[in-house]
Amino acid sequence: MIGKFIPYAILAVVTGAALWRDAPYATLLLIMLMMAWYTIRMMLTSDARPNVREERDAKRERLLTSAVGVGMIFVPLIALGTPVFDSAAYSPIPGQFLLGGLSGLAGLYVFWRSHADLGQLWSAHLELREGHTLVTSGIYSRMRHPMYTAIFLIVTAQALLLTNWFAGPAGLVVFTLLYALRIGAEERMLADQFGPEWEAYARRTPRLLPRLRA
Ligand code: SAH
Repeated sequence: MIGKFIPYAILAVVTGAALWRDAPYATLLLIMLMMAWYTIRMMLTSDARPNVREERDAKRERLLTSAVGVGMIFVPLIALGTPVFDSAAYSPIPGQFLLGGLSGLAGLYVFWRSHADLGQLWSAHLELREGHTLVTSGIYSRMRHPMYTAIFLIVTAQALLLTNWFAGPAGLVVFTLLYALRIGAEERMLADQFGPEWEAYARRTPRLLPRLRA
């Protein structure tokens, strides 16, 4: 239980270090963004069903989610709180932080909605839980993978808010890799499980970007 709050302590320490290092205000936006998505995930997944019935590609999945943790959490925190990556720092162009902030806000909204709609069926890896049903309502009626849309928006925010050629795009690079390697297997798993129900859903619903007109 207490372990869930360790990330806040780490973020507080990094905030202090970043302020002391005189980092731009966008740093604080990025830290708030990390705090917000972590809070959404922690609060909305605490009741995830424990009983997993099927898991696929377990080893590769763990490798990929660890890589995403490094690119979205570890590397940015090191870049914000220490001088390790300072040689790759650059000055932002006008509007960059504004765009980053907007992308982050949009990402948080979609992240929150997708967690609310997927509910207890969420998992970090490719898993089916006991009594798994296919969610097709709420934000899942607009796109098949809103959580991945949200994470793409959040790592784009990281790339824009963290003015460092290495640490900025790190999240985008590793998440793109995870997405590319996972999405086919995830959809195959759902197709195997839900058959025609999945086929119909996939026919009427785009993957990542909602259609503009209903
Ligand atoms: N790809 C989804 C969910 C990510 S969480 C998104 O981006 O929103 C990953 C887990 O969600 C997978 O293990 C899978 O079992 C489950 N999942 C994905 N889409 C689902 C759906 N429409 N209904 C129910 N479970 C789903």
